[in-house]
Amino acid sequence: MALIVQKYGGTSVGDVERIKAVARRCVATQKAGHDVVVVVSAMSGDTNRLLKLVSAITDRPDLREQDVVVATGEQVTIGLLAMAIQAQRKKARSFLGHQVRILTDSAHSKARIVQIDEQRIREALRKHEIVVVAGFQGVDAEGSVTTLGRGGSDTTAVAIAAALKADACEIYTDVTGVYTTDPNVCPAARKLDRITYEEMLELASLGAKVLQIRSVEFAMKYKVPLWVKSSFTDDPGTLVCEEDTKMEEPLVSGIAYDRNEAKISVRGVPDEPGVAARLFGALDEKNVVVDVIVQNPAKDGRTDLTFTVARSDFVTARDTVKKVAKAIKAEGVEADETVAKVSIVGVGMRNHSGVAAKMFQVLAAEGINIQLISTSEIKVSCLIHSKYTELAVRSLHTAFGLDAPAVDLSATSR
Ligand code: ADP
Ligand code: ASP
Ligand code: MG
Repeated sequence: MALIVQKYGGTSVGDVERIKAVARRCVATQKAGHDVVVVVSAMSGDTNRLLKLVSAITDRPDLREQDVVVATGEQVTIGLLAMAIQAQRKKARSFLGHQVRILTDSAHSKARIVQIDEQRIREALRKHEIVVVAGFQGVDAEGSVTTLGRGGSDTTAVAIAAALKADACEIYTDVTGVYTTDPNVCPAARKLDRITYEEMLELASLGAKVLQIRSVEFAMKYKVPLWVKSSFTDDPGTLVCEEDTKMEEPLVSGIAYDRNEAKISVRGVPDEPGVAARLFGALDEKNVVVDVIVQNPAKDGRTDLTFTVARSDFVTARDTVKKVAKAIKAEGVEADETVAKVSIVGVGMRNHSGVAAKMFQVLAAEGINIQLISTSEIKVSCLIHSKYTELAVRSLHTAFGLDAPAVDLSATSR
């Protein structure tokens, strides 16, 4: 008998029929002799709908209150799923984040899980109940509702799996696993049977929203066997696991893109010690995470600083930077939301040179201008105009030999 944590995303609980189908999967898992904890997201589109309500009130929301609103989507689905399981004559019980006690810090809208109290879950499992937990939400030390950032239900599931030392954590979504790139953007994408935690971490941090980055961090740290599967088929899915010698090491194993970034440039920054610390310190105080940073060589005692932030932080970041720019007597601030980051990822890159150069050539051949570049041991990212995202992803996918073999349609017509 195993303890299995399953997580169902928005499309998997998108309507009542889908919720009944999820209930059947949970019941089947229990009937196979396992303890089952299920984490669910809000119905697809619901979190966006709630965020729209917030922005119809204000464009600078109090994030504590925003969390109170957006956390409600998951309250609906846990209640519905628990009842759907009960309708199949099995015991089920729903829990909100604060009822489990998923303790987080107080960084509203992007809170981090600090601790999970497993007592109530264990108690319910002892009574043979299927435990249904609201994803995406927690509670801080003051008792305020918090949320974990978009896609946060993945993190709820993996964190619970880690806390309970579950035998497996299964993330059910609308694709059959982790692909070489987003199959909805690149039809030639190939499903991977396995991927290392490290590569998945890079793909997730670079925008592959199939798993939230924090969920992969938890899985890697606590060695949780993590599966990505489809709730619509019986495909075995993709196993996210530690690197083993049997795994093939292609140069590039995946391509990611992120359209949720924005670029800010501070022009004519005085070339003095402490200015970057002041600028990024002010952003840090506002909880704004800065991604790619480029500082140009100084000329005539002045330099340009360019960096990217999440688009959700764009207004806060721009306002903060404008204030600091004035104080440090910089010449001006430019902000651009029409950017996308396209990245190639692969552990095989470690031992090869020329991968970045090939990426730049592929983009150049398509006439795509590169605005910023950042690299690590196993990835290369380029910031480009967002209108070229699909073109860049598809050309890189082909150029690095990732395309699935074409299906010979002539064979089926005979
Ligand atoms: P859920 O609502 O189930 O959490 P998400 O929309 O958050 O689902 O994540 C699944 C989506 O992730 C897929 O529909 C796909 O468009 C996207 N995606 C991006 N990159 C990848 C990738 N490398 N492999 C699989 N899916 C990807
Ligand atoms: N409902 C939340 C979102 O849309 C959390 C999740 O789906 O994982 O971001
Ligand atoms: Mg998701």
